[in-house]
Amino acid sequence: MLRSSVSQLEAYANCPYKFFLRYGIKLKETIAFEIDSRDTGNVFHEVIDLFSKKLKEDGRNWRDFTDEYARDTVDGLLEKVTNIYGACVFQDSARNRLNIYRLKKALITSVLSIRYQIQKGAFEPQAFEVPFRRDINLDSETGKKRVLRLRGKIDRVDLAKKDGKVFVRIVDYKSSSKKLNPPDLYDGSQLQLPMYMDQEVKRLGEKGVSSGPASMLYYHVEDPLIALPYESSEKDIENERRKQNKMHGYTVGEDLIVSLNDKSLEEGNSSSDVINVTYKTDGGFNAHSEVLPQDDFNTLMKYSEYIAKKQADEILGGNIEARPAEKGSCEYCSYRVSCGFDNRIPGYEKSKKENVNKIQMAPLMREKMDKPSDNS
Ligand code: SF4
Repeated sequence: MLRSSVSQLEAYANCPYKFFLRYGIKLKETIAFEIDSRDTGNVFHEVIDLFSKKLKEDGRNWRDFTDEYARDTVDGLLEKVTNIYGACVFQDSARNRLNIYRLKKALITSVLSIRYQIQKGAFEPQAFEVPFRRDINLDSETGKKRVLRLRGKIDRVDLAKKDGKVFVRIVDYKSSSKKLNPPDLYDGSQLQLPMYMDQEVKRLGEKGVSSGPASMLYYHVEDPLIALPYESSEKDIENERRKQNKMHGYTVGEDLIVSLNDKSLEEGNSSSDVINVTYKTDGGFNAHSEVLPQDDFNTLMKYSEYIAKKQADEILGGNIEARPAEKGSCEYCSYRVSCGFDNRIPGYEKSKKENVNKIQMAPLMREKMDKPSDNS
């Protein structure tokens, strides 16, 4: 059995050798006594989860709380979480104190943005930090019994009911700006959102609920810097902040589903500040809209299992090749010293991403899945 998580498989796609060092032989990085993005990410997730629980305790929901409530509650919860985590680390240096101040601002902006995004649509958050559990049989054809056991957490699952059907929206919080990218979805370095969506739709189906996917989105946790002319009004600033805080990913490109995310679209607005969707004057979506046909959306969900199996096969086959993704993998890699990767040495090569676009992506995935023996 291979025990892993979806994010570890994504790491494998980015460099098998790094995956081996980090998750195979568990080579530890030197831990500095300071806060890094993983710490702030953990604190962010914890505070958002507790905020949601507090709303429930106080008889409120994500549509119904004031700005003042948000500020006071985030303040109290942040203190509680950092105390559990080890307050001394967070207060140890001016740099760490600045990090925690920034995190507080990002948290307050985020709960207010989430409230706005929920108020604008028909989705209700159902759960935060939802356990993800999936066992995938790697040998359905050969009769052997190798299993890929994936465990993880889904940051947020939202549901909306319409015409007797339940629609699913998955939201993942990221500390940096992120979009779904066709080459990354194709090579398996973006697996989380389609795999989580697949699980949630299947889970509802198993309970006898008629359900379907709606949106899989990233929310960038930040208090964005707003650059506007000096004379701009508070309203201009707020509108700009909402634009910058909109969620990115893919939504099923059907009017009904798009407007579940943002009701103002069915009321005549041509552009959304919740998801990245804009209508043209002829009623179609413009080229920058992050929408996919229903069939392509389903393909992405199905392909996530296909590519996870392929990666698991390679890992169990002992692949520990130093094969970093083209951009960025080595620059910030903590294992550079142990690895010795050098592009100029024959035999060391960066992996080349297939240059697929949004239209080519799903047909290519279907083609690949139809030929499971083709591992190219
Ligand atoms: S330095 Fe590059 S090749 Fe080496 S382990 Fe890190 S990502 Fe992989």
